[in-house]
Amino acid sequence: MFYVSTRGGGEPITSTKAVLNGIAPDGGLYMPRGVGAFDWKALLDLSTQEMSEKILSWFLPDFPDMAGIVHRAYHGKFDTEELTPVVPVGDKYVLELFHGPTSAFKDVALSVLPQLITSARGVENVREEIVILTATSGDTGKAALEGFHDVPGTSIIVFYPDGGVSAVQKAQMVTQEGANVRVCAVRGNFDDAQTGVKEIFAAASADPAVTGDGAMLSSANSINIGRLAPQVVYYFKAYAELCKNGVIRVGDLVDYTVPTGNFGDILAGYLAKTMGLPVGTLICASNANRVLTDFLRTGRYDRMRPFYKTESPSMDILVSSNLERLLYLASGEDTALVSDLMAQLREKGSYDIPETLLKTLQKDFWAGCADDAMTDRTIGDVWKTHNYLCDTHTAVAWNVAEQYAKEVGSDRPNVVLSTASAYKFPAAVVRALGETPDENEFAVMEQLRKMTGTEIPKNLADIGSRTVRHRDVEDKTAMLEYVQNAIKERMQKE
Ligand SMILES: *Cc1c(COP(=O)(O)O)cnc(C)c1O
Repeated sequence: MFYVSTRGGGEPITSTKAVLNGIAPDGGLYMPRGVGAFDWKALLDLSTQEMSEKILSWFLPDFPDMAGIVHRAYHGKFDTEELTPVVPVGDKYVLELFHGPTSAFKDVALSVLPQLITSARGVENVREEIVILTATSGDTGKAALEGFHDVPGTSIIVFYPDGGVSAVQKAQMVTQEGANVRVCAVRGNFDDAQTGVKEIFAAASADPAVTGDGAMLSSANSINIGRLAPQVVYYFKAYAELCKNGVIRVGDLVDYTVPTGNFGDILAGYLAKTMGLPVGTLICASNANRVLTDFLRTGRYDRMRPFYKTESPSMDILVSSNLERLLYLASGEDTALVSDLMAQLREKGSYDIPETLLKTLQKDFWAGCADDAMTDRTIGDVWKTHNYLCDTHTAVAWNVAEQYAKEVGSDRPNVVLSTASAYKFPAAVVRALGETPDENEFAVMEQLRKMTGTEIPKNLADIGSRTVRHRDVEDKTAMLEYVQNAIKERMQKE
C-alpha cells in the first residue's frame, strides 16, 4: 500500500516515509491510495493487541515486526490488558478509551507512534534526530510526552494554548521529565498553535536549512497517519465485544457517537467502515464550537466565527485537520477538489462542498452539539440514573447520542466513545454534580473522589506535588525561532 497527499502533490511513498514525514510537502495529509475491504471477520476472536497487530500491518505494511511494536507500545502500560473495555450504561455502550498512562484516549495511538517512528528511522536509514513538533489542545501533549520522553533518536517539543487547558492538563505537561522534551505555552488558542506548527513544517520543507543539519521534523498530531491507524482498532474491538456478549450478530450494524475536535477519532471510524466493518451512523458530537455540526448539516465549512473556551477544551477547535482526509475519501480521492477547498479555507476562512458530496457524507454521518449547560446536565443525569461518572467530553457525546435517538431514532446499538477520565476535568465535573469545586484544582480531585466513591487514576494522584520543569511562554509569531533554538541547543549537547 502506498501513501499519497490528499492534495495530489508529490510521488506515492511508503508507509514508513509517511510516518516519518508526518505531513506531505504540499501541505496535504498522507492517505493510503485505495483503502479497500479487509477480512475483518477474522479479527473478532482476537485480543486487542492481536487486532492492533493485524490492522496496523495492513495500514503500514513496510514496518517489520509489527507484533513487537505493538507489544512494546502497550504491554503493562494500560490499567487493563483489554486496553479499551466496553461498558453497558443504560441503553448505550460506553467504549472506555482512557485506561492508558495519561488517562486520555490519545494514549491509544501515542503509545504506538514512538515505536513506529523508531522503527521507520531504522528502515529508512535516517541519521538525523527526529524532532517531534506537536500542538495540543491539552491531551495530545501529555500523551506524546509520555510516549517520546527519552526515546533514542528523537526529541519532542509541545506547544499548548496559554490558559486554554485545564489545571490538571497543564500540570501533567509542565512536570514532564526527560532529557529530550520541551513544553511551551503559546499566547493564543489551539488553532493558533496548530497553525504555527503547520507553518514550521511548511518552512522546513521549503528550505531544509530552517532546521539545520542533524534534525528532521515530524508530527505527533493526528495529521500523522501513524496516529490514525491505531485508532481504527477500537472500533473493531467494540464491535467484537458486542458480538461476544450477544448484543448483536456478526453483520449487524452498530452506531458510534464520537466527541469530536480535530476529526481524527471519528475518521478512524470511517476508515473502519471503509474496511468493511458494519458501522451504521457515525454521530459527530461537538461542543459550543459547532463548526462541524453546521458543516455536516449544510455543506458549508466556516471557521470565521467566535471561538468559545468550553469545559471540554480538547474539542475547542475551529479548524478540524482530519476533515481533509474525509473529503479526500468521500469524493473518490478527488485531490483537485480537496486542494481547492483547502485553499479557500486558508484564504477566506470558509468553503462550500458540492451538493452530491454533502449527500454522500450525510449517508454516513449525523451531527449534533451540546453547550456547557447541556454537558453539565448530562453528567448529573448519567451519574444519578446509572451511577456512571463521565468526563465533559464524553458527556457531550452522550448528550448528542440522545439527540440522535430522539430526532432520528435507531434500533441499532449505540457505542459512545469515552475519551477521558473525569479526573482530568475535575472542577467542571464537580460543578456538574452540584457542588462548588475547591479553588485548588488538585484538591478537587480528592473532592470528586469523596463525592462519588470512584478512584483517582494512579498517574494523576500526585500531580499537584510534582516539580514544575517547564515555564516557557512565547508569542505565536516566535514559534519557529523557538524550535530553531531548541534544535541548536540539542545539537550542541550531542
Ligand atoms: C483529542 C480529544 C478529543 C477529540 O478527538 P479528535 O480526534 O481531535 O476529534 C475528544 N476528547 C478528548 C478528551 C480528547 O483528548
